[in-house]
Amino acid sequence: MPRKWIVVTGGVLSGLGKGVVSASIGKLLYDKKIIPIKCDGYLNVDPGTMNPFEHGEVFVLEDGGEVDMDFGHYERFMNISAKGDWNLTSGKVFGKVISEERQGKFLGKTVQIIPHVTDEIKKQWREIYDKEKAEIGLIEIGGTVGDIENTIYFEAVRQLRLECDEIVIIHLTYVPLLSCVGEQKTKPTQQAVSLMLQKGLQPDIIICRSKTGLEEKSREKIALFCNVKKTEVISNPDISTVYELPLIFKAQQLDLLLKEKLKIKTNTDLTDWSNLVDNIKHPKKTVKIAMCGKYTALRDAYISITEALIHAGAHLSIKPELEYIETSDKDVDLSKYDGIIVPGGFGKRGSEGKIYAIKYARENNVPFLGLCLGMQLAVVEYARNVLGLKGANSSEMDPNTKYPVVCLLPDQLNVKDKGATMRLGAQKIKLKKNTKAMEFFNTEKITKRFRHRLEINPKYVEDLTNAGLIFSGTTVDEKIMQLLELPNHKFFMASQFHPELTSKLEEPEILFLEFLRATLK
Ligand code: GLN
Repeated sequence: MPRKWIVVTGGVLSGLGKGVVSASIGKLLYDKKIIPIKCDGYLNVDPGTMNPFEHGEVFVLEDGGEVDMDFGHYERFMNISAKGDWNLTSGKVFGKVISEERQGKFLGKTVQIIPHVTDEIKKQWREIYDKEKAEIGLIEIGGTVGDIENTIYFEAVRQLRLECDEIVIIHLTYVPLLSCVGEQKTKPTQQAVSLMLQKGLQPDIIICRSKTGLEEKSREKIALFCNVKKTEVISNPDISTVYELPLIFKAQQLDLLLKEKLKIKTNTDLTDWSNLVDNIKHPKKTVKIAMCGKYTALRDAYISITEALIHAGAHLSIKPELEYIETSDKDVDLSKYDGIIVPGGFGKRGSEGKIYAIKYARENNVPFLGLCLGMQLAVVEYARNVLGLKGANSSEMDPNTKYPVVCLLPDQLNVKDKGATMRLGAQKIKLKKNTKAMEFFNTEKITKRFRHRLEINPKYVEDLTNAGLIFSGTTVDEKIMQLLELPNHKFFMASQFHPELTSKLEEPEILFLEFLRATLK
């Protein structure tokens, strides 16, 4: 049986939502075992070493893989748990080829991009496909056609096709509306497809992103000039929620088109999904949430949190209206918010603003959810203002603090390299009896994803507990504090783990559900 692939590429410009398009295609065919593979052109081995301003949020998987944030879309839409190896980067691919060259594995040959690098790419794709017993491999190539960085992946697709794997190429383009003439313009799409043809790749399906739906005239023109049928040109208009995209594709029978092209049987029902989308679009109530972080200029830095709130909101029929508060700015007014979130983060900048927000939430009985750094700073705030430890801090923010209530994890003390060296991935959390955590999760142990180097300093745990802070979740050996809460507060919880990474539209995370529920009180 030939392997079956769907390859998603992009043209015209980046940022058109290729990840959401790929995830939506995955959703459309959810009764098949689809394995998403993302190929990034950069030379970083993984995005873990990149600032969120560079590339958006770093998504962390169950197995500890630090991967491109598109994996967040794949997991949220497709209800899967992805693996780190499914994110190829040029750093990983070249690293492998060069290390094999050093081992003499090429037997005297000149090692070249073609065939050695492209062979390595195809090998990795096929290994993933076979290992996962996939029915369809969904390859998304990052960037746009014509970028120097991702050329190797386009070439590997061309070869894959020659080698008789069954492939459907879906090209996502942009159709601008020229406002002065009020007309949709198809030329950028035609040019993007001509760049694909230069690489030996004829797209089978063209998905067109546009402000409003694709006009009939544009569809005809694109079909004619880009060598596809009219039914193979799919409209992808701007929408109020990304979760509507699978429904928009289904309405244009993209599922049937893929079924025919890949010679597969599929019959997916999106009724439940459609009901949730309806709740997102027509919520009964709106609540205002302050997200107090320092990467607020780039929304993608906190995308999983935004999405987790939307998921919880869909189940409660609440619209969480998120406002980003830059905590490096002074004098923020928090009085208009129904809830406050302090997300994860690194470094000193903005930390005092976050501590101020936590204090505000604690003293004014405003629902508060702290995530990772948000939990560490909640401890700093409590130590300073309740325990009376003046100048208490995290050693990350102030290495010379007299009271390091947050400090490096013991096994981080000798870590020098920055890449993939944090405490990463899924870990167990033991919940304490008679706590809100136990009440909400209704089980003794949960598993969540982590990404951190520091922890609540064990030396201060007893004093903090005596002062009223409850550590309601720990490691199984009770050594690392992983979840905290305050009694007699509407909702004050903070986790060392990242619940936002495991939230799905159809399976929202409990901490976000309960946080949102509390904002209504
Ligand atoms: N900087 C903190 C740590 O390394 C928090 C990390 C995070 O929020 N992901 O532990």
